[in-house]
Formats: sequence, C-alpha cells, structure tokens
Amino acid sequence: MFEKTRIKLTTWYLLIIMTVSLLFSLIIYSMINIEFTSIEHRQAQIRSDISTQFSPGQKRMNQIIFLDVKEARFRLISRLALINLGILIFAGGAGYFLAGRTLRPIKEALEEQNRFITDSSHELRTPLTTLRTEIEVCLMNKKLTLPQAKKALASNLEEVMQLQLLSDRLLELSIKEEKLNEYIFSDINIEEIINEAINKTKKLAENKKINLDSTVKPQKLHADREKLIELFVILIENAIKYNPKNSKIEIYSKKSRNHLVVFVKDNGKGIPKDELPHIFDRFYRTDNSRNASGFGLGLSIAKKITKEHGGNIKAESKLNQGSTFIVTLPI
Ligand code: ADP
Repeated sequence: MFEKTRIKLTTWYLLIIMTVSLLFSLIIYSMINIEFTSIEHRQAQIRSDISTQFSPGQKRMNQIIFLDVKEARFRLISRLALINLGILIFAGGAGYFLAGRTLRPIKEALEEQNRFITDSSHELRTPLTTLRTEIEVCLMNKKLTLPQAKKALASNLEEVMQLQLLSDRLLELSIKEEKLNEYIFSDINIEEIINEAINKTKKLAENKKINLDSTVKPQKLHADREKLIELFVILIENAIKYNPKNSKIEIYSKKSRNHLVVFVKDNGKGIPKDELPHIFDRFYRTDNSRNASGFGLGLSIAKKITKEHGGNIKAESKLNQGSTFIVTLPI
C-alpha cells in the first residue's frame, strides 16, 4: 500500500517539477527563437545585397560567415530536450527518495497503531475465553447447585472486572498516546522533576511503609517537564509495586560529560534474566508479577519518553535481590 502511495507522490512531485522545467524551456526557446528569426531576416537581407553588389568570388567568401539558423535551432531544441530528460531522471530519483521520507512517520504511526490493536485484542481474548468456558461448563451441568452457580458467577464477575479495567486502561492509553506525541521542550531541573515524581507516588509508598530516598543533584536539562515526571512516576510506582513492605527505594544520579544517568533502585522480587529484554515491550508482564495489578503498559511508555528525549532506558536485576532502572538523558 505504501509503495503505491510513494509512487503516486513521486508522480505528483515529477509533474510539478516537469511543468516548471518545460515552461522555462519554452520561455528560453521563444526568446532565443526571436533572435534567430531576426538573424534570419538580417542574413536574407545581406544575401540579397551581396547577390546584387559583389562579384562571384567575393560571394563565395562571404557565404561562410552566415549562421545556419535551422541547424542552430535544432541544436537548441535537442539541448533543451536533453536538459529536461536529465531533470526528469534526477527529479524522479529525488522525488522517490523524498516521498519515502515524507511517508515514513505516517507508516510508522500506522504500524504502531496496528501493533497496538493486535496486542490489545490479544489481551482481551484471555479473560473472554475464560468467561466463555466457565459459562459453557455451567450450562452443560444439568445438576448445577446454587453454591456452584454462585462460585461460577463470582469468578465471572472477576473476569468482567478485569475486562473493564483493561478497557479503561486502553481508553486512557489512547488518549495518552495522542499526548505522548506532543512534546514541549524547555530548560528543566532534574532534581525538581524527581521531587515532583516522589510527591505523586508518596501516598502509595506510605501505604507499604516504603521510604523513597532521593539524592539526585540539581542539573539543567532540555526536556519535556510533564513527560519526564511521568517517566519517573512509572519507575517509582513499579518499584513500590514490586518491593516488599518496610523497605527502601533509592533514586540517585551520576553525571558524565554529555549525559545524566538517573537510577531507580529497589530491593524487590527482581526480574528473571531471560525476561529482562522483554519488559519494555507493550503488554509484557513477567511470570512472577501475575498477582500484582498492571497490564504491562508502563515500561513501554517509559521507553517511548526516553527515546523522544534522545536518551535510553535499561534495567539490571537479580532475582529476589531487586532491580535498578537506569535512565540516560542527554545534557
Ligand atoms: P505493569 O503495569 O505490569 O507493572 P510495566 O510495563 O510497568 O507493567 O512493567 C512490565 C513488567 O516488568 C511488570 O509486569 C513486571 O513483571 C516487571 N517489572 C517492572 N518493574 C519492576 C520492578 N521494579 N521490579 C520487578 N519487576 C518489575
């Protein structure tokens, strides 16, 4: 589909460029042709003068100074045609390349959207299948007792609530997705960003008696304030979610020549080594996080935000010892 659109766009580019080029060639040709016609007239005049006033020998000598206007006209036309052919080939190549570049962000957005639809329908399918199986089993059981029916309904209700939560999250995410592409960059101070993120997650930490300990130093960055707060809220919320009660989460920073590195370190359950490369994928949840609330969306958003800032994010973790999320941002 994109190849067709690319070719269509290239054709439009070519059409515009070639119209301009041909128009210019026509103007150049008509201007030079006026000169040629006047030369032709003057030469005809001189020829008639020569034929009446000069001897045959002088006539032969004088013939060589005449310009062959027909031949010059032909040469001009063929050169203009050659130039236009060159422009056609060059503009065709450049147009095709530019059309590809113009369409690339649209192509990426569409691919992202398709991936999102596939992922979310996959997520919706699991609770729906469970729901359907449970209902079918109940309907097939001719001696279904009231306690059994109640148990099945309670389980169904759980699945429905899960589906409702998921649809709420998807709606939230689709609204967020729009905002996720709007970045407003300004000079910000990372210390203030971290403090704001801590403020937003304080209540959650207090509920689990977790101490949020930040030693992040002031540092100016050119970034989107709200997006950076969101990024650190995601990381701190996760650390709280996967950390035991009465523990500590450390947030600290290190500065190199061109980068600032922010660490969010917890002492939680950790992430298995083979699952580490996948945790930033949309909807990915590790096996040992199944009973914690979440849909595996937070880290994919965090990754997108760091990428938009020209930075990167990674995680280091040891099972049952904790995880450290490392965000690198350009200064
Ligand atoms: P979720 O909403 O499930 O937490 P995320 O995208 O934020 O989604 O995280 C993806 C998965 O990565 C989580 O399900 C969890 O398994 C793992 N994870 C993220 N942060 C941590 C952490 N601090 N400690 C242990 N596991 C984590």
